[in-house]
Order: sequence, then C-alpha cells, then structure tokens
Amino acid sequence: MSSETLLSIVVPCYNEAAVLPETMKVLINRLKSLIQSGKISDRSFILLVDDGSADRTWQLIAEQAVTSSIIRGVKLSRNFGHQNALIAGIETVSDVADCVITIDADLQDDVRLMDVFVDKYHEGFDIVYGVRKRRDMDTFFKKHTASAFYKLMGKMGVRLIPDHADYRLISQRAVQELMRYQESNLFIRGIIPLLGFRTTVVYYDRQRRFAGESKYPLKKMIAFAADGITSFSVAPIKVVMGCGFMIVIAGIGIAVYALVSWLLGNTISGWTSLILSIWIVGGMQLMAIGVIGEYIGKIFTETKKRPRYSIETHTADQKK
Ligand code: UDP
Ligand code: MG
Repeated sequence: MSSETLLSIVVPCYNEAAVLPETMKVLINRLKSLIQSGKISDRSFILLVDDGSADRTWQLIAEQAVTSSIIRGVKLSRNFGHQNALIAGIETVSDVADCVITIDADLQDDVRLMDVFVDKYHEGFDIVYGVRKRRDMDTFFKKHTASAFYKLMGKMGVRLIPDHADYRLISQRAVQELMRYQESNLFIRGIIPLLGFRTTVVYYDRQRRFAGESKYPLKKMIAFAADGITSFSVAPIKVVMGCGFMIVIAGIGIAVYALVSWLLGNTISGWTSLILSIWIVGGMQLMAIGVIGEYIGKIFTETKKRPRYSIETHTADQKK
C-alpha cells in the first residue's frame, strides 16, 4: 500500500567530485533503509544532476549508475546554475515520482530527516520544508547577511520560509503545479510557498560541508538575493518613486524660500548647495534608472522564453 510510493531524491551537483562518492553512499543507504521500512516503493531512486561540472563529477555518477540501479544521472550540456539544475532534475522525474526530495550534494543537510519527510507525505502533506534550526556551521557573515535578506524580503511582501534552503519534499501534484511556472529567472524558494497545498516544516541542524568548497561566493550570493527580490517584488521601484516625490517636495520648499528671500532683497549665495544638489539628485536618478533597468532586463530575458536547461545525456542512454 504505502510501499507503492515512488520516491525520487534529486541532487544538483556542480564540481562535487570531492564529496560525491560519500554523498552517493550515504544517500543509497538512506534510500535502502526507507525501502526496507516499507514506507516507499523499491523502484525509488536517486537522480544526480550534473550541472556542467568541469571535474570528474559525471564519470563518478555514470560509474555508480552501472553498479547500482538505484542511482541515475542526467548531465546538463553546460552550467545552468543551482536553481535550473534543480528544476531539470524535478522535471525529469515528474512523470514517475509520487514525491520528490531535493537535497544539496554536500551533505550539509541531515539525511535522516528524509524519514520524517516521507512520514509527513503519508500523513497527507504535499510540501515539507526542511528548516535549519541553528546556523552555527555557517560563517558569521553568511548567517547575518542571510537573516537580513529574509527580513528585507519579508518587508517587500515576498513570502519565504526563513532558513529553509532547497531541502524539501514535494508531492507529485505540487510538482505538476511547479512546472506551470515557466519563468526563466526561477527562484524556487519563492515559488514553492505560492503553490499552496498542505505544507509543513521540519527542523534540523545543518552541518559543515563534508568536502569541497561552497559554490556560492559573495558575488553569487548578492546576485542571488537581487534576483530573488526583483523577481518577486516591485517594492524597489516604489521606494525610488517615494524618494523622487520627497525630493520634489524639498525642491518646492527651497524655491519658496528663495523667492521669499529675493522679495526681501537678499540674494542667496551658494556654490556648495548648488553642487551638492546636482550630485545627490544626479546620483539618485542614476540609481533609479538602474533599478528600473533591472526590471526591464527581467522583462527582456523573460520574453525570450529560452529553455532553462538542456540535457546532454542520461545514464540510461549509456547502458545498452
Ligand atoms: N550547484 C549547482 N550548480 C551551480 C552551483 C551549485 O548545481 O552552479 C549545486 C552544488 O553542487 C550543491 C548545491 O547546488 O549541491 C548548493 O551549492 P553549495 O553547497 O555550494 O551552496 P551553499 O550551501 O554554500 O549555499
Ligand atoms: Mg552547501
């Protein structure tokens, strides 16, 4: 009955050769124990998505797929980025899987939680979020920038689950809905809460990366945050408009002051005030144009409707 549930674990991998052997071992053991407990079908499998790695990631996946049928792989034709690699994996299993668990390749997320995810699925939940209880393992900087990010997003009206990364379970029907969101700039963490359905949250402690390096250096983190904000909220444009409005009011005030002084016979001297206002207002205008440009850029990329990823090969193609 419940063992009819086919679970797919989807793992995006970008240059993860250093951790992958251990990750596959850990995930295979977890999946096997889930199968033995009768909670999921013995046809359940792990899908590793190679996001255009430059190291031995794909060789490792392909080799493992030959020895254990529980492992499958799909290789993207180049690096499409974490979010797209995730979507590629989810779409690949969407027809067969009753539920999908997504997890990073670096073993930072507690795999034991998968049992709880599956239990929740059987209780009737469509989306189960893994949420990090503590972030001790992250650097001081990452912890604080992340929490500022969640606060800012919240203020701008974007619903995010704080401290939830991409470790979650999604049922087949939620996956089908997710696939209807066809935007090219996909920020999955922001989309999933929009899907609705019965959802719940499970807490865990996040570990240090087992091996290898974070693929999110500061520059990428900022780009990720900016993308998240401008994909979901027009608040920045409103802020810019508000600033413009205030500057106009101030300008009118200054004009009145100047007029009154002139009528009273005082000419106002002031190179400083002149140059400051030119620079400040000029800078604000450029910033405002930048913000609007960011949105126009989004429109530009979205109208092209380019595919989010391209698959080069599957492990199944290589087995004859
Ligand atoms: N990843 C990916 N494509 C990329 C960058 C990262 O598929 O372009 C994968 C990576 O292999 C890992 C996951 O996304 O499985 C999360 O990356 P990472 O652990 O480096 O991020 P962090 O945990 O440091 O935020
Ligand atoms: Mg990580």
